Amino acid sequence: MTSNNKHKLQAIRHLTGSTYVLEMERRGMEFEAGQHILLGAEDNIHKREYSIYSGTKDEQLEVLVKEVEDGMVSKQLKKISEGTYLEIEGPLGFFSIDPELILAKRKFLFIASGTGIAPFHSMVKSIPGLDYTLLHGVRLVDEAYEKDTYEEGRYILCTSRDDKGDFQGRITDYIKQHEFDKDTVCFFCGNFNMIREAMNLLEKKGIPPSQLHAEVYF
Ligand SMILES: Cc1cc2nc3c(=O)[nH]c(=O)nc-3n(C[C@H](O)[C@H](O)[C@H](O)COP(=O)(O)OP(=O)(O)OC[C@H]3O[C@@H](n4cnc5c(N)ncnc54)[C@H](O)[C@@H]3O)c2cc1C
Repeated sequence: MTSNNKHKLQAIRHLTGSTYVLEMERRGMEFEAGQHILLGAEDNIHKREYSIYSGTKDEQLEVLVKEVEDGMVSKQLKKISEGTYLEIEGPLGFFSIDPELILAKRKFLFIASGTGIAPFHSMVKSIPGLDYTLLHGVRLVDEAYEKDTYEEGRYILCTSRDDKGDFQGRITDYIKQHEFDKDTVCFFCGNFNMIREAMNLLEKKGIPPSQLHAEVYF
């Protein structure tokens, strides 16, 4: 179902100085975990894509946004008052898990940089019993957004600028130093350079291209 609608902002959850979750009315919008919406302030022509962060069964619709330095919409949305309306188009996109792979109990590797964790947060909240490992690449440990959502042992925080994560270094360093089952289905989300490098590394480790799926943010 596509909606082109105004959704009331119910609350903003600030996770760090620059990253926040917008909690909006859902208004019955159906979506698949992994899809995104186009979002902007009411009556503002400027909209941007944001992955849906909440689960398919959640009451509210949520997105996780990082305020980009010199960015337009990510700065505007941070200042919006609770109780005002946001405009949404969508849901959009095909970055979701084929239900046959879930039925076949396949092993998933989710690879995210920064707010690229959003679609995986939605997938984990929406699909019970998912056999996944989530590699999350950030600079500092405080960017481990709501990591308690993920089951013990499934979330691996790679921090490039401090040593307080589970692994010190970039995601790509982690991949270089570890082995992965060749039947793993991999999903990548976030920064283009990270995705390109991580995909190449996993292909070299024997994972076929047909098992690699990506959503590029910037
Ligand atoms: C399918 C899709 C889903 C997306 N989902 C999310 C999401 O869930 N959460 C989220 O925060 N963003 C997400 N983005 C990025 C988002 O759409 C915007 O590009 C971002 O919020 C910047 O918009 P802006 O208007 O503030 O910046 P603009 O004024 O449009 O300036 C954009 C500049 O910021 C750069 N940029 C964009 N994102 C980042 C970033 N995270 N870090 C550093 N530089 C960046 C761009 O390369 C460009 O140079 C998604 C993008 C796509 C294509």
